[in-house]
This record gives sequence, C-alpha cells and structure tokens, in this order.
Amino acid sequence: MAGEPQGDCLFCKIVAGHVPATIVRETETTVAFRDINPQAPTHVLVIPKAHYEDAATLATAAPALAADVLRETQAIADEDKLESYRIVFNTGTGAGQTVFHAHAHVVGGRGLHWPPG
Ligand code: 5GP
Ligand code: ZN
Repeated sequence: MAGEPQGDCLFCKIVAGHVPATIVRETETTVAFRDINPQAPTHVLVIPKAHYEDAATLATAAPALAADVLRETQAIADEDKLESYRIVFNTGTGAGQTVFHAHAHVVGGRGLHWPPG
C-alpha cells in the first residue's frame, strides 16, 4: 500500500535503521543522508520516511510530504553554505533511477553544467 514500508526497499531499511547511513538531517517526515557514491562535494539524498516509488507518485499521493522533501533540500544547502545547487529526481530506469523510493539528490559545491548528461 502507498506509503507503507517495503521489505525489499533499501531506503525503507535506512529509515528503519537497519542499513547504516550518514544522516545529516532528520525531521518527523523526512531523512537526509550522504550519498554513498558522491558526485560532488555536497551530495545528499532527501527522502520521505514513507515509501513512494518516485517523485510524481509522492506529489500526487502526499503533496504536503513532497513539500517537506523540497523544503529540506534548502536546509541542506544552507547547512553546507551553498549559494547554488541542483535538485535531481531521477525518474525511471532510463533516467538513472536505481532506488524506487522517492529521493531528491541535492548536489552542489562545484560548478554544475547545464544541460546535464
Ligand atoms: P538514483 O540512481 O535512484 O537516482 O539514486 C540512488 C542513489 O542512492 C545513488 O546515487 C546511489 O549512489 C545511492 N545509494 C545506493 N545505495 C546506497 C546506500 O546503501 N547508502 C547510501 N547512502 N546511498 C546509496
Ligand atoms: Zn522504501
């Protein structure tokens, strides 16, 4: 069921504390942790604690929770003193999504080219 923990989901396991992560911020509804394979000096993943498979599914089913995730990206940028940063929601395997629990990549601390690859 939407929002329920999924036993085979890596990020649900991080939320539950069953898989370790370098957590940088936590709220009642979200967790933010450093990406295990960082692509920039700041590379943090912000996730809702509840399980939704991608950003659009999250925004449709739980818009206030989607807003919580977005608000947290700013908090990460503020903590790492980033003037500019990029928020990425890879959606679908063709776009590079490998974990099907909605997550915002917050990337910054180096020059960011546009368009991305
Ligand atoms: P996606 O490819 O789905 O957009 O993003 C998934 C991200 O999760 C990748 O950037 C990957 O490096 C990161 N990741 C995968 N496994 C782990 C893990 O066990 N711990 C952490 N902290 N990040 C992970
Ligand atoms: Zn999950």
